[in-house]
Amino acid sequence: MGKLVKPEAILCDRDGTLIQDCHFLRTPDQIEWIPGVLAALKILKELQIKVLVLTNQSGVARGYFPEEAVNAVNDKMRRDAEAATGAIADFYFCPHHPQGQVIQYTCVCECRKPSPGLFLQAIADRSLDPTRCWAIGDRLRDLEPGLQLGMKAFLVKTGYGIQEQQDLSKSLFSEQITVVSSLPEIIDLI
Ligand SMILES: [Zn+2]
Repeated sequence: MGKLVKPEAILCDRDGTLIQDCHFLRTPDQIEWIPGVLAALKILKELQIKVLVLTNQSGVARGYFPEEAVNAVNDKMRRDAEAATGAIADFYFCPHHPQGQVIQYTCVCECRKPSPGLFLQAIADRSLDPTRCWAIGDRLRDLEPGLQLGMKAFLVKTGYGIQEQQDLSKSLFSEQITVVSSLPEIIDLI
């Protein structure tokens, strides 16, 4: 694949894409960065490409952990990125689930991926041009809202990526999704 036009922002999934997917990760000490990702965040910052993290956190609705736990993990990730002289510009998360245990979070929402709410919020907050953004994740649901908005999309083979790749042909967008081994590989495309 040749070089692509530099994106203005990367809208990136969290668990399985930036850090190892540790099934309903709830505390900062469970954070395990996927190899090469922190170094990639440093390069993205040098290239002035914003990194925005968009993540489904249905563990809140399921009663596994409160919203504060999600914020604590995100804050630690932000500090880790800064310690590596990279940056995460912002985090957006969906705490909902249609079949939750905590009433206030149990609903069909507009933000749980593959719904586009988190993407629309990030785009609005930063006045982004979606056609100049990339969506990156280990599940098709991390990519499809971005593709619908005109983004380029990359499926990583970390997290659930290998399994998801098997369903790639069923996606309406299969032709538009580029499979990469892991997030750092996108640096080579810029
Ligand atoms: Zn939601």
